[in-house]
Amino acid sequence: MAMTRRPLIAGNWKMNGLKSDGFDRANALLDLVAAAEDAAEGEGLSFDLLICPPATLIAMLAELVWGRPIRVGGQDCHAKVSGAHTGDISAAMLKDNGCTHVIVGHSERRTDHGETDAIVKAKARAAIEAGLSAVVCVGETEAEREGGKTAEVVSRQVAGSIPEGATSLSLVVAYEPVWAIGTGKTPTAAQVQEVHALIRDKLAGVVGVEEAGLTRILYGGSVKPSNAKELLGLPDVDGALVGGASLVAGDFWAIATASVG
Ligand code: PEP
Repeated sequence: MAMTRRPLIAGNWKMNGLKSDGFDRANALLDLVAAAEDAAEGEGLSFDLLICPPATLIAMLAELVWGRPIRVGGQDCHAKVSGAHTGDISAAMLKDNGCTHVIVGHSERRTDHGETDAIVKAKARAAIEAGLSAVVCVGETEAEREGGKTAEVVSRQVAGSIPEGATSLSLVVAYEPVWAIGTGKTPTAAQVQEVHALIRDKLAGVVGVEEAGLTRILYGGSVKPSNAKELLGLPDVDGALVGGASLVAGDFWAIATASVG
């Protein structure tokens, strides 16, 4: 983690939680934040926290955490601003409900909804135009990793999914090996660093060297309190996108605090 890039710990709650669960989980996180702030005697947190709940909980949780150092994000948005797209949500609607970020191109959306790099790029562009930061996910499947195709796949996804003109404020990249999501398996620290450095290099070709150097690249895939310190200590890892462990406030918090040593 470079000193110029402040860690971002993002929780992807996926399709989990009714109102009472979301309320309790966010409140537990707020309590942990408050205790840390008290202990730091006004110094504030040294990392950014983002929770991405199901769309049904966004408005309620954005109101709950308003004014506190927890941001709220969506898990997806449509590429269009409005129109006949039943069941979809636009980036402007997320912003209107208190979101600052939106995840686009998560592998579950790429697989379940056939999202291509071009679709992901259009969604990321729509998010940025609406004033959100786009958290663009990339990552290889197990077969691609075993076939020695990780660099090729990830390079293609970075080039194809990230809009030109994105900046370190409007863009976050998440490297999520598909085979590591929800499986308990993770790449070695050396493999993670290698892919993150590659992503930063390829990103420079899309947004320029300076912005690529400032853009946060998160690692995601079975991050938990026990492996967070090693992963978050890598030079090109600037935070984590956390699925399962983000559903337990104490685990999510332990991962966040591991980002600062
Ligand atoms: C994810 O789905 O973004 C993710 C990283 O999940 P998990 O942490 O559960 O592997």
